[in-house]
Amino acid sequence: MQRRRPKIPFFAADDLENQPFPRWEYHVHSLFSDGSSTLAALVEHARSLGITRMVFTEHTEPELTDGAGWFERYWQEAMQLRQQGQEGMEILFGLEVPIVDFKGGLLLETSMADKAEFILGAVHAYPGYGWTMGSLPPDKAIELEFNGLMALAENPLVDAIAHPGGVCQKHATPFPLTLFEEVVRKATSNGIAIELNPAYQEPIAPYLEICRRHHALISPGSNAHHLEELGWACHELSKLQRKNRLNCTTIYATKE
Ligand SMILES: [Zn+2]
Ligand SMILES: [Zn+2]
Repeated sequence: MQRRRPKIPFFAADDLENQPFPRWEYHVHSLFSDGSSTLAALVEHARSLGITRMVFTEHTEPELTDGAGWFERYWQEAMQLRQQGQEGMEILFGLEVPIVDFKGGLLLETSMADKAEFILGAVHAYPGYGWTMGSLPPDKAIELEFNGLMALAENPLVDAIAHPGGVCQKHATPFPLTLFEEVVRKATSNGIAIELNPAYQEPIAPYLEICRRHHALISPGSNAHHLEELGWACHELSKLQRKNRLNCTTIYATKE
């Protein structure tokens, strides 16, 4: 599969010092996958929150989608929304795509890859093991999650990696930050962004710090399935950014 779409902007961790974290939301599910709202309702709510760029990332696992022909319907509605104009908000229509092996395989039909404006690569069910990570020995779960993330970090179809370490963390055992760091290093060297996602990474500060250390590109994703979850990631990240600034000022003031 060839990549035909333009790269979309991410927030460079290097800019944390000198510009406020933007109101972007890069991980949203509508009724076309397992979210609870329509595209139009999500867009309207995002606009009311002042979000300036939003990316829909519908699942491609058939059991999580809105049945046969869902992608065609998604696309049709998406293009209708776009024609209505975006009034200060850029909307992109993408997919959250899981790995199917550890060698670069993704659950993504060519017809979808041709259209999707954003590919959020994810480790969900572990290939060969399904959703059994909770009953695997912890080391095995960590190894499978890590191998899957590293495959995403060198996949040219992938724009950003969803919740790195998050599935292991949530369903099996804590995912070591040292391995998260290796994923960040590889993804960054390949121009692939790292999702920071408060639904999976709690507290988010150590993850942000690693992204900063490696000059990563940050993709703010809330894994929003409901209206009230929109903007959670960028809200948390900007809060953390302000807090860090405050700390710097305090230290400086004490020195004087
Ligand atoms: Zn996911
Ligand atoms: Zn998701």
